[in-house]
Amino acid sequence: MNRTNRLGTPWAVLFYPVRSSAIPWDGVGQEIDGMDQTWVCNTCGISIEKAADGNVEWINVPTNSTEWVARDMRIVHHITASLNAPDGSCQFDEAKEFLKDQGTVGDRSLTDYIGPDGLMNLLEHAADPSFRDIDVMEMIKRIHIPGYDRAKGHFEVAVREEVIELNGPPGFYFQRQIQEVIDHYSL
Ligand SMILES: [Zn+2]
Repeated sequence: MNRTNRLGTPWAVLFYPVRSSAIPWDGVGQEIDGMDQTWVCNTCGISIEKAADGNVEWINVPTNSTEWVARDMRIVHHITASLNAPDGSCQFDEAKEFLKDQGTVGDRSLTDYIGPDGLMNLLEHAADPSFRDIDVMEMIKRIHIPGYDRAKGHFEVAVREEVIELNGPPGFYFQRQIQEVIDHYSL
């Protein structure tokens, strides 16, 4: 696969301020500035080591005959990579979700959301009024900010324990802060 633009610059260098020695990211557990890019499954809490093992999914809830809103957007193991979920799958149970509010599952491989084209797919969701902005923003952080998803569950306590200091509103962290959280809690 061609991973350079017409200037011959690796795409990852344009999108991520990485050291020149860093390997351009193809979403397969490689390191960006010393951080592995992995994700935490919303169902089982176990690490998703490569994008091909992950699914982004949400529930489309009908609001009338032609419109719908998305709820519960999340990242989980693809069914073929689920080892520890109680019922053998980390993905939504379609029948159960439908019973709640007639919602139907929408999903795509996590691989569709990595790299520049993946970011474009997320921006397309952001422009779609059926998705909540805050949900798509969180997906952009989780998939495109190195280390964010690994550190995500620890930011609050890290601020409380003064491991990091907030520079702005909670939820928006720079790479230095993310790295400090990962190091401090050995994530
Ligand atoms: Zn899982």
